[in-house]
Amino acid sequence: MTDDLDIQSSRYARQMRFPPIGVDGQRKLLASRALVIGCGALGSVIANTLARAGVGNLRLVDRDFLELNNLQRQVLYDEDDVAAGLPKAIAAKNRLAKINSQIEIDAVVADVDHTNILRLLSGVDCLVDGTDNFETRFLLNDAAVKLGIPWIYGGCLGAEGQTLTILPGETPCLRCLMPDPPPPGSSPTCDSAGILGTVIGVIASWEANEAIKILSGHRDQTSKVWTVLDLWDSTVRQIKLAGSKAADCPCCTRREFPWLAGERGSHTAILCGRNAVQLSFPGKGAVSLDQLADKLAAVGQVTKNKYLVRATIGQYQLTVFPDGRAVIGGTEDVSEARSVYAKFVGN
Ligand SMILES: [Zn+2]
Repeated sequence: MTDDLDIQSSRYARQMRFPPIGVDGQRKLLASRALVIGCGALGSVIANTLARAGVGNLRLVDRDFLELNNLQRQVLYDEDDVAAGLPKAIAAKNRLAKINSQIEIDAVVADVDHTNILRLLSGVDCLVDGTDNFETRFLLNDAAVKLGIPWIYGGCLGAEGQTLTILPGETPCLRCLMPDPPPPGSSPTCDSAGILGTVIGVIASWEANEAIKILSGHRDQTSKVWTVLDLWDSTVRQIKLAGSKAADCPCCTRREFPWLAGERGSHTAILCGRNAVQLSFPGKGAVSLDQLADKLAAVGQVTKNKYLVRATIGQYQLTVFPDGRAVIGGTEDVSEARSVYAKFVGN
C-alpha cells in the first residue's frame, strides 16, 4: 500500500496536522529505525504506537512465548496466538504487519545479552525499553551509551510507573540515577505487587512519545526529568537530575561497560510472575527441534511449531528454542531448572 503523505488522504494525516510533526517530521519518522526490546506489556503498547505512527523500520526483540495470563495487558495478542504457542516477537510482527504494511518489521526471538546487543543496536536511531528486569536494562544502558544511541527507560509495578529519557553524553544515564541494580529479592516483583494494565498504558505511551520526538527530529523536546507516577494515589513526581551527567558516573563519565563486557549479569533468569526459569547458553550450537521433539515425545506431551518445542513432563513445562535456550516452567529454583534441562534436553 502506498502513501504519498497527502495532508488530506494519508494514513498519517491527523498526526501531520500536529504542527511539530508536519510532513517533514513524518518523512523523518518513515526514514527512521527503532529497536524495541521486550514485547510484553510495555513493548506491546510501544510497538503498536510506533508502527501506527509510521516509524519506517521497527526491530522487535523478545525471548518469551505467549500464555493466557498475558492477554490482560499485552494488547497486541489474542487467544489464537496463545493457542498456537507463538513467540511474542513473531505474534507482534504478524499483527503489526496487518496494521501498517508500509513499514518494515524485523522480529527477533532471542534473549538479549552481551553477545548480541551491539548487533541488535546497529543502525538504530533510538532504543525503547519494554523489558521487565534491571539486569537487561543495565546492559542496554552500557550498549546505548557506548554507541551514543538515545534510549528510553520505562518500568512499572503495581500501580506505579517510572520513565527516563537518556541522550548519551547530553543527559544523565541509568547509572547516574542508580549506580547498581537492586540486589535480587530486595524489591517487590510483579509476582508480589501485581500489575495494572492502566499504568502500563501510560508509561508505554510516554516512552513511545519520547521516541517519536527523537525520530521526528525533536530531540530538544525530550523530557529532561525522571518521572515517577502512581495511578492509584493519583500522584506524579518529576525529579530534576543534575543539569548534565553525574560527575563520576562509571558508565557515561568513566566509560566502563561491565554488562557489555559480560563481567556482570548472568545467563539465567527467574521470569517475573511466571513460576519459570530461563536458561540460556550463548555460543551453544543450534538444536534440531525435530530431533528434540521426537526425544521428548517418549517422556511427555509434546507440541512443536517452527519457532519452538514445548513438552509437559510431570509438573514441568519445558520450552526449547533453536539456539538451545529454554524456559522451564513449574519451578523458580535455578538449580532445579538446570537439572530438568540436563535430564530431558541434555548439555
Ligand atoms: Zn551516567
